[in-house]
Amino acid sequence: MTAIAMSLPEDVAAARDGLLSFARAEILPRHEKHRALFENPRALYREDGRFSDELIGLIREVRTTSAAAGYYQMCVPEALGGGGLGHLAYYVAWEALFRFCGPNNWLMLYALAHWAFGPSRLLERVSSEAKARILPHLMNGTKSMCFGLSEPNAGSDASMIATKAARDGDGWRISGRKIWTSNAPIADYCVLFAVTDPQRAAAKQGGISAFIVPTNARGFTVQRVIRLFGHVGGDEAELALDDLRVEPWQVVGELGQGFAAALYGVSLGRIYNSARAVGYGRWGIETAFEYAKTREAFGSSIASYQGVTFPLAESATELHAAHLMGLNAAMLLDQGLPAVKELSMCKAYSVQVGFRALDRAIQTHGAMGFTNELGLTDAWHSLRIVNVADGTNEILNRTIAQRMLKGDLEL
Ligand SMILES: Cc1cc2nc3c(=O)[nH]c(=O)nc-3n(C[C@H](O)[C@H](O)[C@H](O)COP(=O)(O)OP(=O)(O)OC[C@H]3O[C@@H](n4cnc5c(N)ncnc54)[C@H](O)[C@@H]3O)c2cc1C
Repeated sequence: MTAIAMSLPEDVAAARDGLLSFARAEILPRHEKHRALFENPRALYREDGRFSDELIGLIREVRTTSAAAGYYQMCVPEALGGGGLGHLAYYVAWEALFRFCGPNNWLMLYALAHWAFGPSRLLERVSSEAKARILPHLMNGTKSMCFGLSEPNAGSDASMIATKAARDGDGWRISGRKIWTSNAPIADYCVLFAVTDPQRAAAKQGGISAFIVPTNARGFTVQRVIRLFGHVGGDEAELALDDLRVEPWQVVGELGQGFAAALYGVSLGRIYNSARAVGYGRWGIETAFEYAKTREAFGSSIASYQGVTFPLAESATELHAAHLMGLNAAMLLDQGLPAVKELSMCKAYSVQVGFRALDRAIQTHGAMGFTNELGLTDAWHSLRIVNVADGTNEILNRTIAQRMLKGDLEL
């Protein structure tokens, strides 16, 4: 039975189903086999908070196995050597993967190339030399990357970045600081944003450029891992860039137009996070409905109490709406439309309703809802973060309002 009138294109549905079969056959067994590792933070992280070698090895194994099977790079354009599926497939695949993985999320997230960690349409903008030098390693999953835009004094207003790329012969020398850079502690490359024309940047008329750099280059340092939610380690890092030399082939897109690349990357992030929220939210309420049928209190199953089921019904309604918004926004992007307003609405709404669904799922489980085995709090934490990452809810509302004020009134 389907809840959605529109049928997915055959290649999109087949890619999603293939990815799920792959996850079932290749990733779940790895989760089972290494359960002791995933349940032990001291084995997952090193003293300095970075992922342990064992975890990094497993992540790389999942990426390369998925790439060999053709799933990892399935949404990368054919011109870059990928499967050529578009934004709709990207949304549908992530949504399905998050709904499927539930608590088994440690490795699942590496089955499909994440836009900031692996190859994506963003890399259409790199030079032919960068394609030859870097792309093969990203495509086969042996290496990964990160996306360095945010800085200590530039978050929502990313145009305030202070990292500078000063001319040095035919290249540049980059100096500055980055913060919150996800995957940076294990990444081999970084797409880095820096001011190349301070006057234009100050006037908000370009002047910011993107460069792709190896993370082992002299002048590129992961200063520290940032720990979130009381975890003993993490995946976000602070970067120091000191006189980092870059060559012309490392420029991503047009010089001075790096912001376009940044905005496109963030759009992919919004699709990814909308899908993550709907997938996790659906898994949460499905788990809660199942539990409610079996848990008894006051002489009958708690599913017989409307106080338990109505909040879940409300979340189901919200998630259904968010799901439709996600499919729609992804289809608009596939039609070559920027979908700025629709994507902002979709991401803000999806993460709020996904988070609320998980919160309600936790409540339905009573004390059981907080246990590590169920993984509900893990998913809940991850969606709490997405209310900020890739555009805060307030900034998304600001974008929606700006579009409406400019006459973009279609709903
Ligand atoms: C887990 C995580 C991973 C991340 N990964 C990356 C990454 O890989 N690469 C990267 O470059 N960045 C990354 N980020 C950074 C992220 O993009 C920023 O956190 C985000 O853009 C918000 O910036 P900020 O945290 O500096 O908040 P601020 O910009 O300081 O905002 C603080 C508060 O003020 C509000 N606010 C600001 N301006 C307005 C306004 N005009 N109207 C109303 N409210 C406003 C915001 O909504 C927010 O609530 C990540 C963040 C997190 C949490």
